[in-house]
Amino acid sequence: AAYLARIGARNAALNAFVTVTAGAAGQAAAAADAALAGGDAGPLAGIPIAHKDIFCTDGVRTSCASRMLDNFIAPYDATVVQRLAAAGAVMLGKTNMDEFAMGSSNETSFYGPVRNPWDLDRVPGGSSGGSAAAVAAGLCSAATGTDTGGSIRQPAALTGICGLKPTYGRVSRYGMVAFASSLDQAGPMARSAADMALLLQAMAGFDEHDSTSIDRPVPDYSAALEAPLTGLRIGLPAEYFNAGLDAAVGAAVRAALAELERLGARLVDITLPHTALSVPAYYVVAPAEASSNLARYDGVRYGYRADNPADLTDLYKRSRSEGFGAEVKRRILIGTYVLSAGYYDAYYLKAQRVRRLIREDFLGAFGQVDVIAAPTTPQPAFRLGEKQHDPVAMYLSDIYTIAANLAGLPALSVPCGLVQGLPVGLQLIGRDFDEARLLNVAHRYQ
Ligand code: GLN
Repeated sequence: AAYLARIGARNAALNAFVTVTAGAAGQAAAAADAALAGGDAGPLAGIPIAHKDIFCTDGVRTSCASRMLDNFIAPYDATVVQRLAAAGAVMLGKTNMDEFAMGSSNETSFYGPVRNPWDLDRVPGGSSGGSAAAVAAGLCSAATGTDTGGSIRQPAALTGICGLKPTYGRVSRYGMVAFASSLDQAGPMARSAADMALLLQAMAGFDEHDSTSIDRPVPDYSAALEAPLTGLRIGLPAEYFNAGLDAAVGAAVRAALAELERLGARLVDITLPHTALSVPAYYVVAPAEASSNLARYDGVRYGYRADNPADLTDLYKRSRSEGFGAEVKRRILIGTYVLSAGYYDAYYLKAQRVRRLIREDFLGAFGQVDVIAAPTTPQPAFRLGEKQHDPVAMYLSDIYTIAANLAGLPALSVPCGLVQGLPVGLQLIGRDFDEARLLNVAHRYQ
């Protein structure tokens, strides 16, 4: 009830929630109370959370912040939603996001931008900006997000919370609206690493409904939190501390690294030579997969349908023209182009090769170090509208997060101080399936 009251008081200013499920939340909370009284409560019994509006929720609108899905009510729960509910968590509602998770500022949402609770004239980051703002402003205790190129870590950094993108395949994508299927991964957003460990515990694990989910035991993330950092080797990639990094953000990250050194870790200089190619490779691979995934929105099966179509072609054309926003159309156009017969080898195939080189850089580095540390973003939160009409400037705000998606590696962001009164994040990137270690380092730091 306290969280619902806070949503009532603050959501009009923040625009973090697009749907509030007060009635269902009350029932779930009562069920959690009964389970607690009866001694058979799940590990998250009664914990109020929010889901990014990209996760299908049975009977509750799942819009992906698009006009295309403004009227879409899923007939089933995403695996992530179902598992968190089974653990006892109470869903308060669905959070705003960039349309189809395409964006870094939450300004591409059909429902209008989310505002950063630290400064209402600034963006919360994106695309999981609604989840980030909701956690940061205390409208829920934790939330889910998705990260294709930084969409959990970047908004977490810009709103002063924690966010984790797991290893590709660690968390099921079943019921998560697809953007770029080889990059998309769901993860927790919360105020502490310890809270993220609790959420990830419920979210992770094999799911027969997702052919890319990996059948591998899930470790006890909370049990690993306190391990000492003595002897831990932390790699500092030269390419992530370059000229594009705001000096004050760099200083905040270096102060965090000094703290990790005091806790027993050893800092090692490394290089990841193909780093500069990650943004260009991503903006071939991600739009290519998006153009294919978004072909399903045809105005026929579900979602937005244009009025009074003259014929089938008119129905397709107008439903897609009217249903999708500008950034989504830009991605579909780029993706269709790079996949077209004459250009496939020059762009798509080439980007896949570059992607392999990027992963090999990381695998080489993990021969020398246990964890890689970097800034999460080059700057603190920017002003609403500042990059809205400059797609390349917007794309560059994910310059430090995209490589982990291309390589499939787990990565988190943990707050590491304020720059001009605005939060910034320390990013930690780990070996495949080494989420426990990332959470351990972030927890000891916090
Ligand atoms: N900002 C990046 C994009 O627009 C990443 C988004 C994401 O991770 N979903 O594609």
